[in-house]
Amino acid sequence: MNRRYRKTVIAGNWKMNKTLSETQVFAEELRPLLSRSKWCDVVLCVPAINIPNAVRLFKNTRVAIAAQNVHFEDHGAFTGELSAAMLREQGVKYAIIGHSERRQYYGETDFTVNRKVHAALQAGINPIICVGESLEQRELGVTLEYIAYQVKVALAGVPMEKMRRIILAYEPIWAIGTGQTATAQQAGEVCQSIRTVIRKLYDARVARAVTIQYGGSMNAQNAAELLAQPDIDGGLIGGASLKAADFAEIINAANQET
Ligand code: PEP
Repeated sequence: MNRRYRKTVIAGNWKMNKTLSETQVFAEELRPLLSRSKWCDVVLCVPAINIPNAVRLFKNTRVAIAAQNVHFEDHGAFTGELSAAMLREQGVKYAIIGHSERRQYYGETDFTVNRKVHAALQAGINPIICVGESLEQRELGVTLEYIAYQVKVALAGVPMEKMRRIILAYEPIWAIGTGQTATAQQAGEVCQSIRTVIRKLYDARVARAVTIQYGGSMNAQNAAELLAQPDIDGGLIGGASLKAADFAEIINAANQET
């Protein structure tokens, strides 16, 4: 992390977990555990149906509510989908875009990711753009090239002045939900390479200010070491965000690092 230049953001991705009553219990448990420190922003990506209630439950806390997905069109015949304007109107501040599970199960591509980034920005939602290589790509030694490609396509057409609203999340697919975390060195190397791509696409000031998260089996035990990497500015956390105590420990680790 480098707090002089950029925000630290810890985001929990609940995926398809937690009913409304479970969300209420979590909010009651998390609230007293949130440190008073202002060093890190906290985001919770809850199932879409629970967004309005989650916004209400976390009102007047440091927790911003996020969506796990957004559609790229602003309205129309897209059964089951939600537009960025609908989400924004319910109090959504961030949206995960291009999570590897959406790419794997719902056919999302780098090009739909780019369209969704534009739709979110247009509606006033901050995109959390996920990129990450497969195990095969890592073993072939093409990780950095592949991530650079994903970042370039995701950001195509995004003007410099909008970049302060973008978060990038490096999530190696082989580390998501597997318990197999990237080493701090592996994660740090890729996050640094993402910053270099941003510098080439925009300039050094934009690259220095962009928040880059790591995601992939981050937990209370390994968070501090990952967050100590200079180019890792937070985490996108799945499994370990489901228990308030574990999530709070990660938030506190981010607050303690300098
Ligand atoms: C994720 O869903 O983005 C994620 C990183 O999951 P987990 O922390 O469970 O690996």
